[in-house]
Amino acid sequence: MRFINLTRRNEIGANAYFLEIDGRKIVLDAGLHPKKYGEEALPNYRRVEDGEVDAVFITHAHQDHIGSLPILIRRQPLAKVFMTPATARLTEIMLHNSVNVMSRQRDELALGSYPLFTHREADQSMEKWREVGIRQAWSIDGERLGSNGQETSFEFFDAGHILGSAGVLFRDGGQKIFYTGDVNFLDQTLQKRAEFPDEPLDVLIIETTRGDRASRPNFSRAGEEDRFLSCLLETFARGGSVLIPVFALGKTQEVLAILHRFRSSGALDAPIYIGGLSTKITIVYDQLASISQRSLEGLQLLNTLSPFVLNGRDVATTQIQRNRLYVLSSGMMTENTLSNQMASRFVDRPEQSIFFVGYADPDSPAGRLKAAQSGELLQLEEGGTRLPILCSREEFDFSGHAPRELLMEYIVKTQPRTVILVHGDPPSLEWFRNAIARALPACQVIVPEPDKEYEI
Ligand SMILES: [Zn+2]
Ligand SMILES: [Zn+2]
Repeated sequence: MRFINLTRRNEIGANAYFLEIDGRKIVLDAGLHPKKYGEEALPNYRRVEDGEVDAVFITHAHQDHIGSLPILIRRQPLAKVFMTPATARLTEIMLHNSVNVMSRQRDELALGSYPLFTHREADQSMEKWREVGIRQAWSIDGERLGSNGQETSFEFFDAGHILGSAGVLFRDGGQKIFYTGDVNFLDQTLQKRAEFPDEPLDVLIIETTRGDRASRPNFSRAGEEDRFLSCLLETFARGGSVLIPVFALGKTQEVLAILHRFRSSGALDAPIYIGGLSTKITIVYDQLASISQRSLEGLQLLNTLSPFVLNGRDVATTQIQRNRLYVLSSGMMTENTLSNQMASRFVDRPEQSIFFVGYADPDSPAGRLKAAQSGELLQLEEGGTRLPILCSREEFDFSGHAPRELLMEYIVKTQPRTVILVHGDPPSLEWFRNAIARALPACQVIVPEPDKEYEI
C-alpha cells in the first residue's frame, strides 16, 4: 500500500489523502481550508498525476472534507466518487453555497481567481457521484458485491459525527485498511454514536481532533445540556437574549434538538431564529429523519420548533427583544456571516449572552472573543468599530468528535499494525503518537509529512 498526505500542513484544514491499494489509486476526502485563499486553500492535488485516480471517497459533507471536490474531479475526470446518500444531498447544498461565498469574496477581497469553481462545475461533478449505503460491500469499480468477492472492495460504516458521516473499510485479499473520517463514539442529542468495525485491522487512518485535551471528569451530555439550560434561563431572567454561533451543518441541528428537549419538557419558551443555509440543511435532516441513525427518531425540527429565518439585512436591522435565541452560522463568527454581524450588536451589551458550542480557530473572531478578557476592546471585522466586551460568554462541550480516550480505546481494540494520524493539530498528533507507543509498542505510528510517500 502507498500513502501520501495531500494536505499542506499537519492540521485540520483541507483534508485529502492519496492511497494506492493493489494498483488501484484512491483519494480520501477533498477538503477546502476554511481560512486560506486560492491555491493555499486547496490540497496538494498536483502531487497526483492528472487522470490516474480510480476512485474518490467522501466521508461527510463538512467543508474541510468536500470543499474542493469539483476541482479534484476537474483533474481526475475518470474517478468515481463514492459517498452515502445523505452526504450526497448535503454536499450538493454545501458546494453551491460555497460558490456563492467565493463569488462574494471575489469582490470583497479582490480575489481574481474566485470562485474556484462554478455552479455548473458543482452540478457536473455530481454526475460522477455514486451513492452507497452503510454496510454494503462494493468494488472500487462501483459494482455491488456478494459476500465472497475476491477483488478489492470497500464498505461504509456509520461514523456518528453528522448526518451521513461514514468511515470506509477497504479489503484487499486478507488486508484491512480503515479510514475513520471524523468520528464520534458518544451519542449526541440527535446523532447516534459510530458503529465501526471491531475486527483486527492492518492499517488504521484515524482523526485526532481532540488529542490536545483530556475529557472532563464526570462529563455527560445530559449534564452539559442542563448547564446550557440554566445559563439560557439566567440570561432571560436579566432581560437579555442569547446568540449561539454554530456551523450550519450538524451543530445547528444538534442545538435545535437540544432546544426541542427543553421546550417539550416545559422548561423553555423562547422564539428561535436561524439563518438561510441552516434552513436548507435542516430540511434535509427532516426529510431523512426516519431513515437515519439518530435519536428523537422522526422529529421534524422545522415544523416542531418553527424557527424564524433571518437574512443579512434582518440581522442588521431587526429589533433585538428580550428572551430570544439566535442560532446563527458561522460557528467561528467569520467576517460577513450572520453570527459575526449579530455579535456586533451583542458584545457591548451587559444583559446579552454569547454561548459557544463548538470548535473555533483561535485566530477567528469567535476564537478571539472566547479568549479575550471582559472589558477588553474587540474588533469583529476588518474596518469595524472596536467594541468593549460587556456581554456574558459561556462555553459548552457539544462536540461532534470523539474524546481522545475513546479513540485510543478503538485503536487498542482493533490492534492495527500501522496507524496513520491525520486531522489534528501538532499537539494532538504528538499526544496520540506517545499514547499509542505506550499502549501498543509493536504498532508502527506514522504522522504523515505532507507530500512524502509512505510504502506500508
Ligand atoms: Zn466534520
Ligand atoms: Zn473535519
